Amino acid sequence: MEYVEETADERMQAWCIHCGKGIAGTKANEDHAPSRVLLDKPHPPRLPAMTVCQPCNTSFSVDEEYLAAFLGAVLAGTTDPSKQRVERAARILGSNAALVRRIEQAKRTYQTQGGDERIVWTPEEARVRNVVVKNAKGHVFYELSEPMLEAPSHVSFRPLESLTTSEREAFEEVSWPNTWPEVGSRMMTRLLRGDDLAGSWIVVQEGVYRYGVTQRDGGMLVRIVMREYLGAEVFWGE
Ligand SMILES: [Zn+2]
Repeated sequence: MEYVEETADERMQAWCIHCGKGIAGTKANEDHAPSRVLLDKPHPPRLPAMTVCQPCNTSFSVDEEYLAAFLGAVLAGTTDPSKQRVERAARILGSNAALVRRIEQAKRTYQTQGGDERIVWTPEEARVRNVVVKNAKGHVFYELSEPMLEAPSHVSFRPLESLTTSEREAFEEVSWPNTWPEVGSRMMTRLLRGDDLAGSWIVVQEGVYRYGVTQRDGGMLVRIVMREYLGAEVFWGE
């Protein structure tokens, strides 16, 4: 990705953007948004990163691995590590038999009326939600320097193919309203220079991860698309 400098101010990040605790003098980690496990290697250079406290950082990693493996299994139609299309999912599934069993239990097959076999996967909502919200907070903080310390008012995630045409059109619309972001924020710089933008989406890795951050109805809206399969939405507002 392009490195977009933040020139708005020199605010030092003194707290963890997830739990709000001060991080000065404590063990803190650099954390990436998007989570690196959700991307393909080689990772794009200059991935957005921020400092988070170590307990938060650790708490995300199990759920991030789960989501990477789950998405991989859904896309491949199997938990078999040798049949994965996503290399990271193959590695996680190949080294974690308990996770394979757990994802396998979330799989249901059924016959269509035409006699085809179809597979339905039920995700562990709390785990997906944890990863989606973590990344959404990271995206807002990186683009606008705004810490979203409150719990979001709305979180949802669905396969894009389950959206109707009009729902899909509405989902893809993440352009900025007439009031533009703070001068010097990364989002403002992006809008002026077009860095990593496809329409209003910030493309981290083509076909793998993109996100949009915008203001909507006086609140903050983040949308995320993973592997052009899963669409997620997080909103803070009324
Ligand atoms: Zn924290």
